[in-house]
Amino acid sequence: KSQTVESQTDVLIIGAGPAGLMAAYWMAVCGVKARIIDKRGMKVFTGQADGLRPRTLELFDSMGFQHRVIHEGHVAVEANFWVPDENGKLTRQGPHCSPKINESNHHNMLLNQGRIERFLLDTIRKHSDLEVERGIIAESFEYDEKLGNDLDTYPITVKLRTLSDEEANPSHLSTEGSGLQPVNGQGGVLPDDWEELIQKSRFRQTNTEIVKAKFIIGCDGAHSWTRKQVNIPLEGSSTENIWGVIDIVPLSNFPDMRRLGTITHSSGTILVIPRERKLVRLYVPVQTVDGNSSTRFDRSSITLAKIKSRVQAIMSPYTFDFQICDWWTAYQVGQRVAPAFNKGNRIFLAGDAVHTHSPKVGLGMNMSMQDGFNIGWKLAMVAVGAANPDILGTYNAERHPLAEMLLEFDRLWSGEFMETTDADGPAALDKADRMVHVVEKYMDFADGLRTYYPASSLVWKVSEEEGPEAARNLVPGERISPIKLRNQAEGNSKWTTRLLESDGLFRIIVLAGDVRVEEQKKRVEALGRFLSGEDKTKVSPLHRYVPIPGKKDQIGVVTIHSAPWKEVEFFDFPDILRPFDPVMGWGYDDIWCDNSCTWDPHCGGQGYEKWGVDRTRGAMLVLRPDQYIGWVGELEEVEDMTDYLDGVLVKMPTPEI
Ligand code: FAD
Repeated sequence: KSQTVESQTDVLIIGAGPAGLMAAYWMAVCGVKARIIDKRGMKVFTGQADGLRPRTLELFDSMGFQHRVIHEGHVAVEANFWVPDENGKLTRQGPHCSPKINESNHHNMLLNQGRIERFLLDTIRKHSDLEVERGIIAESFEYDEKLGNDLDTYPITVKLRTLSDEEANPSHLSTEGSGLQPVNGQGGVLPDDWEELIQKSRFRQTNTEIVKAKFIIGCDGAHSWTRKQVNIPLEGSSTENIWGVIDIVPLSNFPDMRRLGTITHSSGTILVIPRERKLVRLYVPVQTVDGNSSTRFDRSSITLAKIKSRVQAIMSPYTFDFQICDWWTAYQVGQRVAPAFNKGNRIFLAGDAVHTHSPKVGLGMNMSMQDGFNIGWKLAMVAVGAANPDILGTYNAERHPLAEMLLEFDRLWSGEFMETTDADGPAALDKADRMVHVVEKYMDFADGLRTYYPASSLVWKVSEEEGPEAARNLVPGERISPIKLRNQAEGNSKWTTRLLESDGLFRIIVLAGDVRVEEQKKRVEALGRFLSGEDKTKVSPLHRYVPIPGKKDQIGVVTIHSAPWKEVEFFDFPDILRPFDPVMGWGYDDIWCDNSCTWDPHCGGQGYEKWGVDRTRGAMLVLRPDQYIGWVGELEEVEDMTDYLDGVLVKMPTPEI
């Protein structure tokens, strides 16, 4: 029997794809009263996105599941561009490898979106009982703007409807009916996903629910329902190309069938992406149409057989066939972006909901997850009363320019894939050069090595390109570039991407310099007196701000010194930098040194140099919960640092006397 219930939640996330799950991670970590719904009865299992860029992998490390990606995924850092020579014979140009390969400890990887969703779902479960409510569609929306400024109100009303099994579970395997086999005997589904499949047959009752929410995040994909409710359009280019994409196990004599690269022929260019479990993904241009014309894309005119024969024509004289197809589709996409990613400080949009582009730059899932991560921590902290609501405005300011850059990159890169008639000899070599040039130009952006976040209450800049004098390469608004450190007390080594966990804390990083030098030791001791509150002339930022639920403080402190570890001791550092807990003992995980480890070649003791910091004098910085640099200064600039934190975090109420 159908029934309507009413409920309240602080944050409602619509859509549980990569963007929605990233935002949900933060709700779970920060203990927010939140819900996440998706109209699909199940998560993605096969197909869709598969490219993972270094910055995304760094985020996964900070969330604690990057080891699972390493275990299952495929690393692809070299690209080969095959073009016809003057005799029309396909020849390899390359391998080309990023000159920035050592900027991150993680390198480009390929793994199916369904697996990433699995890891995110498992991680969310570790932190809270927040579960994706599947088979539920958001159908009507009201927003009372007058209530927008009072954070205690619930100005958003959304009607949710539970879908029937038929509505929620359209056939998930696009190979169904094709007579082809999926990649393993279980329809492409790995054992840890079986539980979700079983839920498919769960009996559903048709319910409607009226949900009142304080905030909403629309992560509902390229046809975003949420975006339409707030009348934000998608604006962009009019040329829309039609592509075939296939995930197959190839049967071919082409030597680079399992290497990342492109193959160019007079009839077009295909992109080859090696994947997990012997799969290879191919992107194949099928046709170009003018998005402004009345020509409509007839999906049924593109068949798997047609895509295969297109690949065979481009790869000729090499052979190409397959027996196993895990997934395939044909799609049409233009480069489009929404002019705004939010409406006021209550409604936010993330991922494909606000930017669409061709998948060949391998950025759709990355950008979407990074959007969800960015709005996720900010909104979660505001929702639990730990951060100033003004920080919500930085979401659009930080992410929108990157979406514009993504579209620019995609226009150039996908343009190279469309049909050419003059792609032999020198012209083809030019094309290969152009492709390398485009990749190199956008490398920093695409890999997430640079983010270009502008100045704001969360980013205190002195210059666009450099950090302050104390730390030239630590630029506020950029991520902290990873280094591997040695633990002072234990001797084990760890990358900063893992050490600086995404646990919701702002972190003061004390670069203590060389504390064997008496003068420097005194500077560190003075900082210790300030942080511990012993210095009554100033106010310590520790225990000053409202923490997120479950944390004792909203600020964490990590110390990294540069002296040889054997010449200083853990106990030489002020107590406040390695606090004692009556149950857990000393903070052994809080003091690290930038020293080499003979047994670990990645731990090279060159971190201070990489960060542009003087090895004797050190420096100090504040990292946001997403590991982006917020503030940088000298060890003495404690009041400036506290001003930064005061502008972002909510102070604890003063106890009544
Ligand atoms: P999505 O992953 O699209 O997630 C949106 C979610 O919102 C969906 O689960 C949807 O069910 C849900 N939803 C939508 N409306 C509602 C509503 N009203 N109520 C409740 N829930 C709702 N990228 C590549 O890089 N390579 C590819 O080959 C590729 N192929 C793709 C093929 C398809 C069919 C699709 C859909 C996407 C493909 N992509 C590909 C894009 C890639 O999947 C996206 O860039 C990425 O998933 C974006 O993540 P997202 O979370 O923003 O959106």
